[in-house]
Amino acid sequence: MGGRYYVETFGCRVNQADSAGLAADLDLSEHERVRSIAEADLVILNTCTVTHRSDADVRKAVHRLQRERPEAKVVVTGCYAQRAPEEVARIEGVHLVVGNAHKKSLPVLSGQLLDHPHAAPIVVHSTMDGVDPLELPPVEPVTTVLDRTRPFVKIQDGCDATCTYCIIPSVRGPARSATPERILGAVATLIAAGHQEIVLAGVHLGTYGLGLPAGEREDLTGLVRRILAQPGLMRLRLSCIEPMAFPMDLVDLAAQDRRLQPHFHLPLQAGADRILKRMVRPYRAADYLEVMQEIRKKVPNACLGTDVIVGFPGESEAEFQESCRLVQAADLDYVHVFSYSDREGTASTRLDEKIDPRIIKERSGELHRVSRELFHKFLDRQLGQHLEVLTLEPDAEEPEWTSTLSANYAPVRVKGQLPANRLLEVEIVGKEGATLIGRLPSPAPP
Ligand code: SF4
Repeated sequence: MGGRYYVETFGCRVNQADSAGLAADLDLSEHERVRSIAEADLVILNTCTVTHRSDADVRKAVHRLQRERPEAKVVVTGCYAQRAPEEVARIEGVHLVVGNAHKKSLPVLSGQLLDHPHAAPIVVHSTMDGVDPLELPPVEPVTTVLDRTRPFVKIQDGCDATCTYCIIPSVRGPARSATPERILGAVATLIAAGHQEIVLAGVHLGTYGLGLPAGEREDLTGLVRRILAQPGLMRLRLSCIEPMAFPMDLVDLAAQDRRLQPHFHLPLQAGADRILKRMVRPYRAADYLEVMQEIRKKVPNACLGTDVIVGFPGESEAEFQESCRLVQAADLDYVHVFSYSDREGTASTRLDEKIDPRIIKERSGELHRVSRELFHKFLDRQLGQHLEVLTLEPDAEEPEWTSTLSANYAPVRVKGQLPANRLLEVEIVGKEGATLIGRLPSPAPP
């Protein structure tokens, strides 16, 4: 039996793309997609588990559903379901738990759940530890788009690295890639559907190509070159790329072809070599600095971003200050700041010298301040420039304005209720808070 379903997504772009994949499979089966939880017989929570808070957000969502939509069947899948299936099954209000390796069976399992509603939650799960990538469902870029102007195309999944703080390899499994043909097919379909910007997503994007059969092997730069050759492509954006797998020839491509968006996000995680070593990050601070300076030199108006963990076990005040100095020396434009917390199942939980949570909070506050300063410097550099922007949706606070995104990832507000998914050229005439104000050339296009 089919049901009316609603997918709620937690976490990263790869999970967003996975939710679109779930919807594509559910649409192909006997289920019907609805736009709100209020209409749903089935609510699918596609979860994240990178931190304790991610898990807590899922528990809160289940409790909210119990209050607001008690008649719905709740299916929990994604990384929390993969990391702790029994723990998830014990959350009151959960009816079915499906691990990441079994997402393809979710439509059938959900149908059975509706046919045979029962008391005890069902758990469908298998470990990712030591699994052969060929035993896992292939990585499939999908063309179903869930309420997004800029679709995420998942080209890679899993990770073979061993960063000591990271739970991802144990919940997403070994690195594997979609074939170039499948990706080019999906991109062509999305272009034909009128999407102006496509975002490539992956867990360890720089390792794209790993696991592909010899005849189909392609690396990330090769794939990007082939996507840029697709007729009708307007904008291609890359998600986060780990510095240890960042192909420098991508920067040359971005310098030559402005459709490859000038926005590069490379997670640094720490500015001190001793801490990078404890994290098992295979580069030194100086290597990272060199890469970012090279990007800045070749693509001067690019937006450069990073992730930094504060309070990693053993991090001294001086080492924390090295992180602050490095993000400034690298002339970055923003920093996503993460406060370290032990994650069950990761190697760093066994490290000594845990940092006092009050000190972690202080360091987080300080690096957030540094990030704000960097971002405002970035925004100020755009003043007076003419930028190409993509219209997204009406501004939440002031609907007579439209939110847009520039090629170099700056949020720009434009006066007027403009349809989404349009590429426009605007002059940057001001800044309000952390958003730029763009003015259309007059008279405004119809
Ligand atoms: S590269 Fe490191 S941080 Fe990134 S997903 Fe893999 S293990 Fe996690």
